[in-house]
Amino acid sequence: MSEHRTTVAGVAVDTRHWIGGQRVASPRTFTDASPIDGAPIGEISRGTATEARAAVAAAKAAFPGWAATPRAERARLLHTIADGVEKRTEELANVETVDNGALLRSHRRGVMPRVAHNFRFFADWLLTLEHEDFATRGHTNHVTWDPAGPCVLITPWNAPLMLATWKVAPALAAGNTVVLKPAEWSPLTASLLADIAAEAGLPAGVLNVVQGYGSEVGDALTSHPDVRRISFTGSVPTAQHIAASAAANLTPLSLELGGKSPLLVFADADLDLAVDLAVEQYDNAGQVCLAATRLLVEEAVAEEFTRRFVAKASRLRQGDPRDESTDIGPTIHPRQVTKIDGFVRRALAAGARAVIGGHPGEGQYYAPTLLTDVRQDSEIVQEEVFGPVLTLQTFTSEDEAVHLANDTRFGLAATVATGDPERAERVTARLVAGTVWVNCFFVRDLKAPFGGSRHSGIGREGGTWSFDFYCDLKNTVTAPKGWKDH
Ligand code: NAD
Repeated sequence: MSEHRTTVAGVAVDTRHWIGGQRVASPRTFTDASPIDGAPIGEISRGTATEARAAVAAAKAAFPGWAATPRAERARLLHTIADGVEKRTEELANVETVDNGALLRSHRRGVMPRVAHNFRFFADWLLTLEHEDFATRGHTNHVTWDPAGPCVLITPWNAPLMLATWKVAPALAAGNTVVLKPAEWSPLTASLLADIAAEAGLPAGVLNVVQGYGSEVGDALTSHPDVRRISFTGSVPTAQHIAASAAANLTPLSLELGGKSPLLVFADADLDLAVDLAVEQYDNAGQVCLAATRLLVEEAVAEEFTRRFVAKASRLRQGDPRDESTDIGPTIHPRQVTKIDGFVRRALAAGARAVIGGHPGEGQYYAPTLLTDVRQDSEIVQEEVFGPVLTLQTFTSEDEAVHLANDTRFGLAATVATGDPERAERVTARLVAGTVWVNCFFVRDLKAPFGGSRHSGIGREGGTWSFDFYCDLKNTVTAPKGWKDH
């Protein structure tokens, strides 16, 4: 491990920024540690406004060339990046697991294939975008999807490369250049992505990566007048700060934020399926924005549901995320453990009962927790914990279930378990959420709009919605030959 490089899981990673096709170091570094055992794994360049501005300047300089690159060539380069991701799946999966603590088997089989798919999907979708033409009193309207310009993409630590490429791929496909700012708690795979893009032949300056603390590099990126789009995934307070910073230039924003999603279990549901869906919410130690952390269970089946839930959850194995048999890994940072435990302590003090868990484990591991006897207006029901902590409340009518489900400031997702298709239709129509699943969870097609309502975000990305965001739509109206306006 040096100031500029580290080796993680046998993979060499450059820990400097990637700006204008060059590795650039900051005067200072910060230490990146693995959540698995808290051990330091890299000294990362600690970006400042200077590197942030240099990255925007590089993105601005590269923009005209990339925007003018024919679509087919842009698509070809994105497919070549996907090839590089596929070739390095094993390396990326291992580095990501050591860096953010999520399960290696998920990274190998689910996440990294999805990273490659992000590039392939948006490359292919680009080629299907039609330039629309229609006539108005003999004039032609020609609607084009123009690239917007340099985009700033800011991402969190819970699914680093997946969330980064979910933004990078459509932004590049649309003809924009990019400054990516990964989270300081999981900075490594963004650096590997820069290597892969360079190897694929992406021109210098089209993709730039700036490392560092959001509080130190963020404002220089989000308030920069040359930035044409900001796409952010992260917490509500940071989003509020970014929105204020972007306001000076009226820079369009896409915000994908937190959630407190419900899982509604009706008495007519397949109870084993409902329990499976509930236990799945502990994935990634609950550090999933979409997680249905509020279990709302119809009173008639609540006892049986809880019995089966406890039986299944007690079999979960918590431990080293590199081990194939592990179900739940660590939380990202010691600070996160303290935060999660604070939520749980306050809930218990307010009268909640821990059916399972309710305490930290060794190191950065927090015991999977289920709390009952919680009030709807309490902090534990209203606020995002971002850890393996679920609450269980009961209801006696469909109206009450919908009321409880919608009664938070969030609106990211909801899951409904029911055996009655008519009930499913009635209930889903009334839920406030960007994504609603019926008898399933986490099924995602990149064609679908993705985003949240209320404090869960602004805007939708996915399929054409991504291009809506990353492009400036332009209508050119042309008069017929010889036409004169009177
Ligand atoms: P965070 O808001 O603390 O940080 C996210 C990113 O913002 C990091 O890269 C950070 O460095 C940067 N940042 C911090 N301050 C900044 C500033 N002043 N200016 C610019 N950038 C700044 O969030 P987190 O703790 O990393 O992530 C967890 C949150 O992300 C949770 O709330 C979770 O629900 C949310 N999330 C949402 C989605 C979604 O798709 N809706 C997906 C994953 C995570």
